[in-house]
Amino acid sequence: MDAIRDHFHHRLRNQLSNVLLFGSVIGITAIGLFAGCVGGVLLVGRTALHEGSPVLQLLVVVLSTVAGFAAGASASLFASPLVLRHAFFARPIGEWNGIRLFAAADADLPGGAPNVFVSGFSFGFGPFRPAIFVAEGAARILPRPALEAVLAHEYSHLACRHLGKRVFAGITTFVAASFFTSIALIGLHWSGYTEFGGFLSLLSGVIPAALTWMTVRRLLWDQEFEADAHAMDRLGVSPGRLLEALETLQRAIGGEPHPLVAERMSVARARISSEKTAEIAAESDTGSIAA
Ligand SMILES: [Zn+2]
Repeated sequence: MDAIRDHFHHRLRNQLSNVLLFGSVIGITAIGLFAGCVGGVLLVGRTALHEGSPVLQLLVVVLSTVAGFAAGASASLFASPLVLRHAFFARPIGEWNGIRLFAAADADLPGGAPNVFVSGFSFGFGPFRPAIFVAEGAARILPRPALEAVLAHEYSHLACRHLGKRVFAGITTFVAASFFTSIALIGLHWSGYTEFGGFLSLLSGVIPAALTWMTVRRLLWDQEFEADAHAMDRLGVSPGRLLEALETLQRAIGGEPHPLVAERMSVARARISSEKTAEIAAESDTGSIAA
């Protein structure tokens, strides 16, 4: 009976968490989109623009809508430390280097794995101050220095302003790709290739979305290495500790590491061996001076 109740309780927690997570992202982004669209229409209707050319009017409304969408999406990310804290039933466990730390049960986190991640913008304030979420499983299996290496990696994402760069790259790619897709469609229409244009117009919504996804994915990948490098170069994290953390977490998750994790491990291993070589060289130098 207890097992059934626990199972039901757990399902309910996950559903609540999904409603809060997706609801807040969709809700806040939709408000931004709507406000941008209405703002654009009002701008055209209430200013000298309403006597201008229809193309200009359309451009103003489209730009204003895109700006509203971008502002809404950014606002939902800005609010994420507060939203995630409740969605993951997390509890505060202190601060690290001025960043708030929260602990959450592994089962309440996405993937149900021992995970550590950061949310929010570095310039967030009040309840929106950035926060690092630590899965209880990760805190349990990682020795203190290895856990600190992970925290330094997460802190580095904030220090390098990674989230802001992702948002900027995502929005500019989407706007640029949409613009060029529209130009291509208009061009095809005018030059008489209407059939091909019709086919392309079916894809016109997918192309900008796919390009944006690819760009952000590439950036996410690069930012992982940048955060590791920042943690080691600026925060004095030893590559050995970082490798220990990655290996320990991977063992707990089980299976083959994701290619990104495997690559981060090999970068850390390369650093360890190059530091060893440098140490040996330094020792032989002092040896020759002493001799
Ligand atoms: Zn990371």
